[in-house]
Amino acid sequence: MTRTQQPAQISQHTQHPQSRRQWNIRQVLLGLVMGCLLPGVIFTLSLFVREYLLVRNQLTDNLIATARAMVQTVDSQLFRALDTAHAVASYPGLTDVDPDVFYNWVSVVINRSEIGMNMVLSDRQGRQVINTLIAPEDMPELHDDPALVAPVLMSAEPAITPVFVGSLLQRPLLTASVPVIKNDEVIYSLGIGILPESFNPIIETQDFPDSWIVGIFDNTGTIVARSIQPGVYVGQKGSADYIDSISSALEGITEGETREGIPVTSVWSRSPATNWSVGIGIPTGQLEAELRRSMSILGSLILLLLVIAVILAWRVARLISDSVSQLKAPAEALGRGESVQIPPLGIAESAQIATALQNAAGLLRSREAELKQARASYLESLEQTVNERTRALQLANEKLEQLALSDVMTGLNNRNAANSRLRQQFLSYKRTGQVYAVLFLDIDHFKMVNDNFGHETGDQVLRQLGNILLDAVRGNDFVARFGGEEFLALLENCNEQDALVVAEKIRAAVAVNNFPLVNQITVSIGLAMVKADDNSEEEAVRRADKALYHAKADGRDCVRVGV
Ligand code: GH3
Ligand code: MG
Ligand code: MG
Repeated sequence: MTRTQQPAQISQHTQHPQSRRQWNIRQVLLGLVMGCLLPGVIFTLSLFVREYLLVRNQLTDNLIATARAMVQTVDSQLFRALDTAHAVASYPGLTDVDPDVFYNWVSVVINRSEIGMNMVLSDRQGRQVINTLIAPEDMPELHDDPALVAPVLMSAEPAITPVFVGSLLQRPLLTASVPVIKNDEVIYSLGIGILPESFNPIIETQDFPDSWIVGIFDNTGTIVARSIQPGVYVGQKGSADYIDSISSALEGITEGETREGIPVTSVWSRSPATNWSVGIGIPTGQLEAELRRSMSILGSLILLLLVIAVILAWRVARLISDSVSQLKAPAEALGRGESVQIPPLGIAESAQIATALQNAAGLLRSREAELKQARASYLESLEQTVNERTRALQLANEKLEQLALSDVMTGLNNRNAANSRLRQQFLSYKRTGQVYAVLFLDIDHFKMVNDNFGHETGDQVLRQLGNILLDAVRGNDFVARFGGEEFLALLENCNEQDALVVAEKIRAAVAVNNFPLVNQITVSIGLAMVKADDNSEEEAVRRADKALYHAKADGRDCVRVGV
């Protein structure tokens, strides 16, 4: 990766396919928290509601049992009154006894029994004959409500009156009455007057909460005792709701309103024997108040738990996402080939990745350095190889050049080289006026050498002759094998006279030289000087050739000068 690549390009390459929805860590953790907590919360709430309903049912069951026990107490109080009245009424000779004696006796009975306020003996017309509250001598003319004494007189059965306002005391009371029978005929009704307050202890001993409205009702639904405002409501009928409810069943629970209009949940129990009832009214909402309180505490706790969980999840998510996001810069630095700086990371896995990135960056740098070094040494060796090859090529070229310009057999310059030198020398002459001589040399009867001694020997003679020529000329003179057994010498800066000396020197050197097998050979030489009116280098060569021809014609082994 090169430095020129931009982060944008990198991110383009690494973009993920968008076909799948991507969630961020916060959403995932929130989902996880909700997924874990909500079922627990729902389960706890349902358990709580179930527990509440159980407790509520248990509470109402207990209240019904309490009402039942209370009504039984009421019953037993009433029955004790009836029993006492019955015992007195059964006294033989009651009807004949002296009223004073009877008054004294029943007064003692009523006071000792503590079951009633007074005892009243009423005749069939409802006139009170004896009332223990009034001495016999002071007894006024008092009449009971005929409706109250009628049941006993008519049916000859004991009866308990509803609450009524007594004619003597002018206050609510009730009577437990029994018939007094003489000769199978009911002649009196004997009743024990009972004050409603005597039932108050039955309510008070229960110690109900002050706000509860507890009442004891007679068989007509009239209030006999009451926990709240008895002075106002005793003697009055219970609420219509209540009377309706108790007439439908012996025990139960119902919603309704009290006489003063307080909405209540009422629990009642009615006596099957007397039809008196006890009702416990709990103001609506109070029964649920405890539940509401517990529910609100539980709800607050759950809410608090949720808030704490969400905050924790949020913070954890931020820690994780920060740790992951902080890896972006090191990764991009790695991409750019820069050194990777690791920020402080709160998540161990992120720190491990960051360390891995840093190591990767280090590795990358060392690889880059190795690569650089390898490239440098490769370039160096390449350069060396190129240099070597170039040198070899140069040498080869030089050799080729040499080969192109030299004669293979004698090692002298060849005809190409001779032509090139002649041209060069002619141009120099034209420029400087420096004259030169051309010698044209041919072996005499060389055909015979080949014929007599073989071609190989002929070649050997040619090579040896080349050396004689080189020895005979000056260092800067030029010698070439022009073709076959013909040779050319170019004598620089040399006049005709000097050239003749050189030519003669060559001819004499050849003539005296001993060639193996062949022994002596001779050469003929044509000499020509360059001239001012020459148009090309070839003209001097032609004149030399012509002079050579003359030398041959003149008997060979001689030098002739061309004109
Ligand atoms: P002259 O020049 O005196 O008239 O007689 P000549 O025998 O030398 O005649 P000419 O110059 O015509 O013959 C040239 C001979 O040189 C012919 C050929 O066999 C011989 N010759 C030419 N080149 C070579 C060569 O490279 N090697 C050998 N061995 N012989 C060569
Ligand atoms: Mg020849
Ligand atoms: Mg010849």
